[in-house]
Amino acid sequence: MNRRHFLALLAALSAYGAEERNIPMRQSALFISHGSPMNSIEDNPYTRSLKQLGSTLSKPKAILVLSAHWATNGSVVSVVDKPETIHDFFGFPDELYTINYDAEGEIAAALLLSELAHTKIDRRHGFDHGVWSVLVHLFPKHDVPVFQLSIDMSKPGEWHYALGKTLSILRDQGIMIIGSGNVTHNLGDIDWNTDAPVALWAKEFDDAFASALTNDRQALIDFDLPHFKHAHPSIEHYLPILPILGSQNEDETLSTIYEGFQHGTLSMRCFQIG
Ligand code: ZN
Repeated sequence: MNRRHFLALLAALSAYGAEERNIPMRQSALFISHGSPMNSIEDNPYTRSLKQLGSTLSKPKAILVLSAHWATNGSVVSVVDKPETIHDFFGFPDELYTINYDAEGEIAAALLLSELAHTKIDRRHGFDHGVWSVLVHLFPKHDVPVFQLSIDMSKPGEWHYALGKTLSILRDQGIMIIGSGNVTHNLGDIDWNTDAPVALWAKEFDDAFASALTNDRQALIDFDLPHFKHAHPSIEHYLPILPILGSQNEDETLSTIYEGFQHGTLSMRCFQIG
């Protein structure tokens, strides 16, 4: 970073916080496994845990979501005043297609992130279901501005983890970061029964993942977990995990929000940092 760029960043940061009289509180980073879109309307142990969490969170200034359902080649930030709700799935009950998550977009923080992370800008992208199927439980009043950073499929795990350092700066500005994906995600190997018995490979992957969360971050960054290729035939649902972990400060703890399975192979594990 050269001096001019550094000064521009300082100006952008101070401009973003200008309307705040008090220093904003550092916000949490969450990773949420979102599973089927049906979770947006169902009452089950997983959705109850999200509702419970939402009732305890302090209200952030804005929310940045990194959703598996906005995967791109290169990084893109959404800079949209009033994002539409996108119903990006097929064959589900009509009720799901009537959900409208009408939170405002967030312009200033989105432009700041674009500057900090050297991304492109998208001025049309609406909320995909990786965003709203989670936020309907965490922030049911739709009263916090939301923006998105795409998942850059062209970059290695190490890059996604390092991105967390930039997201940590936003957390200091009172912005909550949510990664929305799944700890396991193989749609060719799911049982349509939500409460189907858990497949052995999925259990072994989830156990190893949970252990690595506390003991071996490098294994997570390197995709070095048992059955990884089977758990993630494509990695867009895994990658949002890494920047959330990378945003952790040394003095912050990681806590489990929810652990359990749906459809036999979908680990719905969720965790919180800070
Ligand atoms: Zn998904």
